Amino acid sequence: IEEQLRQAQKMEAIGQLTGGIAHDFNNLLTGIIGSLALMQKRLAQGRTETLERYAGLALASANRAAALTHRLLAFSRRQPLEAKAVDANALVVSMEDLLRRTIGESIVFQSVETPGLWPTLCDPHQLENALLNLAINARDAMPDGGRLTIETANAVLDEAYVAREPGVAAGQYVMLSVTDTGTGMPPDVMARAFDPFFTTKPIGQGTGLGLSMIYGFVKQSDGHIKIYSEPGQGTSIKIFLPRSQGAGEAAQPEAGEAAPRAE
Ligand code: ADP
Repeated sequence: IEEQLRQAQKMEAIGQLTGGIAHDFNNLLTGIIGSLALMQKRLAQGRTETLERYAGLALASANRAAALTHRLLAFSRRQPLEAKAVDANALVVSMEDLLRRTIGESIVFQSVETPGLWPTLCDPHQLENALLNLAINARDAMPDGGRLTIETANAVLDEAYVAREPGVAAGQYVMLSVTDTGTGMPPDVMARAFDPFFTTKPIGQGTGLGLSMIYGFVKQSDGHIKIYSEPGQGTSIKIFLPRSQGAGEAAQPEAGEAAPRAE
């Protein structure tokens, strides 16, 4: 539980950090836009003597913005994924207390762990972060209370399914769904929900990075994520992570093929 709390605090810190970076970036953009607008005006007036100064100001701001994004990229790269075989049922159970405390008492929490769940191959800390973020989004979508359900299941994505979902490989996955009875998303929000910095929340409350970070984690894990949402009804977000094949994660050897076994 201490570990989960630490994790939640870390997420909050990351939220503040990224929110701060977005704010700094925006300030720099404002400076660039201002300088360019002045240059345009002076050009129209035929007054060219101040152009060089404004160009210098715009360039300095642009260079600082570039340095900022480099730092952000370096920061995100410093946390490599450590994928291993994970029991998603046990992971969800271990998070129940934290999740209950996060969503508050006006929301009923329920989790459904399917017995016989396959192990999944992913970074367990990233999966915890993802579930916590999804629960926070669900809470924010249910200001008057409601129900939050987390469910696990074995899932086979067949050829018919992946034909409709570009970039997804057919195969065996472990599915985790986070379902709320909240406001739901109108189609225009759903279309942009994974975009970095896209948020419908008031300034200071949303960073717009939650779903984009989850999307990044899922894609890096060779998984799949899907939003089902009905305005006024609620939202269900399904994450599919690949089934762990065990034995050093080598693919199952083909019949007749002699493959060394790591025990
Ligand atoms: P943030 O939560 O900081 O806004 P996210 O990337 O997590 O950033 O979410 C982006 C947007 O997607 C939210 O601002 C909200 O409009 C919408 N959204 C996400 N989850 C839900 C949900 N469970 N119910 C309704 N809308 C949601």
